[in-house]
Amino acid sequence: MERDLTRLREAVLERVEEHSAAMVQLSREIHDHPELGHAEREASRLLAARLTEAGFQVERGVGGLPTALRAVYPGPERPAVAFVGEYDALPDLGHACGHNLIAAASWGAAVGLARTTGGELGRVVFLGTPAEEGGGGKIQMVERGVFRHLDACLMFHPHRRNELEFQARAAYPLRIRFRGRAAHAASAPHEGINALEAVILTFLGINALRQHLREEARIHGIISKGGVAPNIVPEEAEARFLVRALTASYLEEVLEKVKNCARGAAQATGAALDLEPDGPVYQPMRNNQILLDVFRANLARAGWQEPEAPPRPGGSTDLGNVSQVVPCIQPQLAVAPEEVAPHTPQFAAAAVSPRAEQVLRTAAQALALTGLDVLTDGALRHAARQELRGGT
Ligand SMILES: [Zn+2]
Ligand SMILES: [Zn+2]
Repeated sequence: MERDLTRLREAVLERVEEHSAAMVQLSREIHDHPELGHAEREASRLLAARLTEAGFQVERGVGGLPTALRAVYPGPERPAVAFVGEYDALPDLGHACGHNLIAAASWGAAVGLARTTGGELGRVVFLGTPAEEGGGGKIQMVERGVFRHLDACLMFHPHRRNELEFQARAAYPLRIRFRGRAAHAASAPHEGINALEAVILTFLGINALRQHLREEARIHGIISKGGVAPNIVPEEAEARFLVRALTASYLEEVLEKVKNCARGAAQATGAALDLEPDGPVYQPMRNNQILLDVFRANLARAGWQEPEAPPRPGGSTDLGNVSQVVPCIQPQLAVAPEEVAPHTPQFAAAAVSPRAEQVLRTAAQALALTGLDVLTDGALRHAARQELRGGT
């Protein structure tokens, strides 16, 4: 058995290697045609075509999302491992989060593993998940049951450090609206109620709050509506915030304090306040340590020699919601130098650099090998599930 596994591992590495040129091509095509969340028509069409060619049965529009897809390689239903692809870009910046590499690596891993096992050892699935950047595609897919009947969900994310454990924050998108009363700003300001001032007071309140929050909290926002002309007292004003923390309970606590800043501003100005969620709520990431250890070993098998960086709290991901119900990992591998932050034009350029394309192949190999372990090792599947349940 051990000899069989060694042979299978070698075969997986070779299969993925054989697809490395196709992975690079796929990654570049997606990168060259950036599409925003829920509008990734070309990327999802391209992936569906490539998966069909590789022998997968492809279903598009799963979970009620037109650009989502599920591709299953024919074989027994369980055990089952899913490789998760993201392919949305950012406004103005294009693929500055490198999701082109995620789509290509998960495609390469799924195809490499399915082709090696012929579907006989269990189910190999590719899940195309739209709108990670704010739209929370996976959140709706979790709610609609797309992530059921899986033993593990695997993906990697390009980054500037090799942080295998992804400490993703929970995030609550909050929309704050104030309604005041319009008036001539010079001849009758006393008759107006200034909604913009309420927004400004909200920002000031939040800025005063910051010094008393734990380091892990993040609150950041924009003024999305601030009046129509300087000679009219702004009747309507609006701000959009993201409130983040490492745990759902601390997020709840910080969110209440942020809402109180808006309530205080409403009281101070006399403007009417409306608070509402501005999108789906991202759960924190539960990194499955059992799967992460397996991935770590497989990175070495794929020839990776770089040191691992200690985890630091980062942004948020809708894989966080998946990680609450299925054992998940989202290791981050460096495709850019340390000084290049994600969500910048420099990172968008790094996402098609020779370094990124080398990482792409290694990531796909390590993901495919981890998928092989999930399919062949019942004890591993059990332990990963137990960890998720909080057992030992
Ligand atoms: Zn991003
Ligand atoms: Zn991202």
